[in-house]
Amino acid sequence: MPRSRVVGVLVSAVLVGSVLPASVARAAEVPRVPEAVGRGGAVASIDPDASQIGVDVLRRGGNAVDAAVAVAAALGVTDPFSAGIGGGGFFVYYDARTHRVSTLDGRETAPASADEALFLENGKAIPFADAVTSGLSVGVPGTPRTWQRALSTWGTWSFDQVLRPAEDLARRGFVVDPTFRRQVDNNAARFADFTSTRDLYLPAPAVGSTFRNPDLADTYRELRRGGVSALYRGTLGRELVDTVRTPPVVPGTARVVRPGDLTTADLAAYDVVRREPTRTRWQGYDVYGVPAPSSGGTTVGEALNILEAGVPDGDEASGPFLHRYLEASRLAYADRNRWVGDPAFVDVPTKELVSQRFADSRACLISPTRALPGAVAPGDPRAPRPCADSGVAAQTPYEGRDTTHLTVADKWGNVVAYTLTLEQEGGSGIVVPGRGYLLNNELTDFSFTPATPGVPDPNLPAAGKRPRSSISPTIVLRDGSPVLALGSPGGASIITSVLQVLLNRLDRGLSLVDSVGAPRASQRNGATTQAEESFLATPEAKWLEGLGHRFTSTAEIGAVTAVEPAGGGRWRAVAEPTRRSGGAARVVRP
Ligand code: GLU
Repeated sequence: MPRSRVVGVLVSAVLVGSVLPASVARAAEVPRVPEAVGRGGAVASIDPDASQIGVDVLRRGGNAVDAAVAVAAALGVTDPFSAGIGGGGFFVYYDARTHRVSTLDGRETAPASADEALFLENGKAIPFADAVTSGLSVGVPGTPRTWQRALSTWGTWSFDQVLRPAEDLARRGFVVDPTFRRQVDNNAARFADFTSTRDLYLPAPAVGSTFRNPDLADTYRELRRGGVSALYRGTLGRELVDTVRTPPVVPGTARVVRPGDLTTADLAAYDVVRREPTRTRWQGYDVYGVPAPSSGGTTVGEALNILEAGVPDGDEASGPFLHRYLEASRLAYADRNRWVGDPAFVDVPTKELVSQRFADSRACLISPTRALPGAVAPGDPRAPRPCADSGVAAQTPYEGRDTTHLTVADKWGNVVAYTLTLEQEGGSGIVVPGRGYLLNNELTDFSFTPATPGVPDPNLPAAGKRPRSSISPTIVLRDGSPVLALGSPGGASIITSVLQVLLNRLDRGLSLVDSVGAPRASQRNGATTQAEESFLATPEAKWLEGLGHRFTSTAEIGAVTAVEPAGGGRWRAVAEPTRRSGGAARVVRP
C-alpha cells in the first residue's frame, strides 16, 4: 500500500464536494514572490515552502548555513525531482567575519569497480536514455554529507534541528504546483516501471492538491537521530545499495534496467571535499565560484575575462554586447570541455583557465563583425599564444536540465550559494523503497566515450571519480564584501545563465530582478545557440543572425535565485519571476 500522498484538491476558497477525510488538514498555498527587500536576512529558492522555512530559521537565530541546509532539505520534499538526499551538489559560503569564501564539493562518486568502460557494452556506448534510468548511473550521494559538513564547519544549529522543518513539511504536505505536476507527467512512463516510484508519484497528483511523503519524513527523522552515518554506514545505506543493485522493477515491464555495482564500502569511503574557490578579478570585483570537478567557476571566470579583454566600457550597444557574450561563452566552453574533470584524476589548469593572460589569448579570436563558425578548438591555458588553438574542437556533451539553486544571506552578513541536483529531472527514476527519495543518475555526466575522437577527454569514468559538473554557485565581492550571490539549474546551461545575470546586473546595470527575468541565450561551443522565445523576439536576435549566429528555440533556460545587499543592513532576495512557475524570495523583516 503506497504511503504517500495526495490527500485532496484545493479549489481556491470553494471546495467542490468532499474529497477529503475531515481529519486531514490541507496544506495552505504559500505565495510566490520574485523579489523581497528587508532586514534580518534573506532567502531565495524556487519553492515558497522551502524559502519560508529558510526565513523561519533565520528569524529564530540560525545563520545562513543553518538556513541553507534547512531550505535544501525542504527542497528535497517539494522539489524532489531536482534535489534531495539521493543526489549531490556544490556549496559556497562567504564568512562575514573573515571575509573569506569557501566551497564544499559534495559531488557524487563512481563506485570502486568503475572504469572507462562503465557505460560500454561490447565496446559501444549504451543508449543514453538506458543509462539514465538505471542503477548503473547512480553515484554515491554527497548531499547528506554536505549538509552535515556545512553545519559542523560554519553552522550553529544541529543536524537534528535543521532537518525538523523539512520532516514536518513532508508529513504535513504541500500544495502541488504546475511544475511539480509537469515533472511527474514528463517522467510518468519510467516512474511506472518501478514499484516504489509508481507508488509514491502515480497517478500524477492534481495541481492544487496536497502531496505528502511520510516515508521521506521518516527518513529525515532517522537522519536527524542517527546522523549521516545512518546513510553512509547504516541501514539507510544498505537499503540504498540494495536498490541500486536490484532496482525495484515492476514485473513484466519491457524496460531494460541495468543494475549498478555500488557497494556499502563505496558509501563508507565517501567524503565531501573542501576546495579553494576559483577567483576571477573582473571589473574591480572578485568573482568566486566552484572549482573542478565542476566547470562552473573556471568557465564563468574565463568568459568574464574574455569579455574584459580590450573591450569598450559598459555603454556598448546591446547587439555587440550580446555578440561578445555568446563568443566568450563559446570559447570558454571549448576550454572547459578539453581541460576540466575531477582533479583527483586529471591535472586541471584551474588558475591558468581564469588568468587574464589566457583570456586575452582567446579574446583575440572574436571578430566584431562575424560569428565564429560553430564549435571552436580549445587553447592551451598553460602556454597561451594569442589567437592560437589546438585545431580540434571538443564538443559540449549533453547534461540534464533539472537541478535547484538556493541563495541565503543572514543578518551578520554571511552568504550561501548552494546548487544541488539529481542530474536529470527525476534522477534515475528509482525511489528507494519505503524511503521516499529518488536516486541520482549523476554518473551520466561522465563522457561515455571520448567527446571528440582524438582529443583527450578529462571526463571519462573511473573508480571513485566525480563526473564533471556545470554547477556554478557564485559569490561576488568588492573590497571583501558581498555585492551579489547567485546560481541556477540547467545542466550545461547553468554557466551561461549565471554569466548572463552577472553581466546584466554588474555590467549592464539592470536591477537584479530584471537581470534574472531577462530573456536568455546559451552558446556552448556549438553550431547553434539555444535561446528562449523571448530572446528570439528581440531586435538583437535578428541583428545577431546577421553576424552568422544560428539559434534554436527552447522554452526556458535556467531558474536563477540571487541575493544582494540593499543598503543599511538590508538584503534583496530575487527568484525567477516566471520560469519554473516562478520562485520565492523572502526576507525576515520586509
Ligand atoms: N548534472 C548537472 C551538472 O552537475 C546539473 C543538472 C541540471 O542542472 O539539471 O552540471
